[in-house]
Amino acid sequence: MAQHAGYSRWCYNWGLSLWNAAYKYGYKPNILKLREVFTNHTKPLYPWMKNLSSKVYQYAFRSLGEAFKRFFQGLGKYPRFKKKGKHDSFTIDNCGKPIELNGWSHKLPFIGIVKTYEPIEATTKKVTISRQAGDWYLSCSYELNPTITPKKTDVVGVDLGVKTLATLSDGKVFESLRSYHKFEAKLSRMQYLNRHKEIGSANWKKAQGKIARLHRKVANIRQDALHKLTTYLAKNHGRVVIEDLNVRGMLANHKLAKSIADQGFYEFRRQLEYKTHWYGSELAIVDRFFPSSKICSNCGHVQDMPLSLRTYNCKKCGISIDRDLNASINLKNAVGLTVNACGRSAADSSG
Ligand SMILES: [Zn+2]
Repeated sequence: MAQHAGYSRWCYNWGLSLWNAAYKYGYKPNILKLREVFTNHTKPLYPWMKNLSSKVYQYAFRSLGEAFKRFFQGLGKYPRFKKKGKHDSFTIDNCGKPIELNGWSHKLPFIGIVKTYEPIEATTKKVTISRQAGDWYLSCSYELNPTITPKKTDVVGVDLGVKTLATLSDGKVFESLRSYHKFEAKLSRMQYLNRHKEIGSANWKKAQGKIARLHRKVANIRQDALHKLTTYLAKNHGRVVIEDLNVRGMLANHKLAKSIADQGFYEFRRQLEYKTHWYGSELAIVDRFFPSSKICSNCGHVQDMPLSLRTYNCKKCGISIDRDLNASINLKNAVGLTVNACGRSAADSSG
């Protein structure tokens, strides 16, 4: 697998450097031409490539093409060279035949038998194998038939917070992830202790491995909490109302930036989009100019609410209510101000 990942990286970097050179000399490069040059002129020069799956270079070029497409559409940065040990991965398929993943042991084309820590049941066309902090991961997409679940509540408003992960209009609160902050402190300490080690030395490598595994742990804890929240919302509510957050504007505010980036608002919305589709509910997005935190959810009065105020004390009707709960109730009631999120087909969702 390491050899295949290396092959994939080699092809990606080769393609990128040829693309750069072609562009420099006034040609208009494209992936098809690159592939042609590679198979006719370059591949025969490297006998070791014969022992590896030819699917690897096909997918490597395809992913380079997609990186350039994103760049030209203004969605991504200019493609960069891949480094060994960073995001090592490769993709293979079974020449058009389906790959059956069944149980703990799987026969992958070209690679052979691999065992997984968790059982997988899926029929897929291609698999991507990647290395993260020394462990290998298998990912694939497969078709899933949406299962419509019975809904306890018709409409729920969700306010994503800084202090808490989320507050629901029925009063339920999803707490912020403390354990995550604990690991984060450990992480910055390890990075600090590692600062004087000679780069590339055995001790440095050992410490880097530890740091990478901790990074993965932090990312997994965060992913897990978000998945639990979005699954709960989509499974139990007919309509989930959230705010269209102007994340870019908020990220400019440095105080807020960290916790917002931490809790992954984009990822929250992305998960809700496909999960509401899976479980037969609806996602509604409220316009970002809707003043969800300034309105009184009891009488409709509007007053300023500086971020430091954690409680909404209405100057008109006198109600005293938690800031986030007030906002989530306003979102729930914001009928007519919502735009429906675009749906995603279940087949697109990767498992
Ligand atoms: Zn009021």
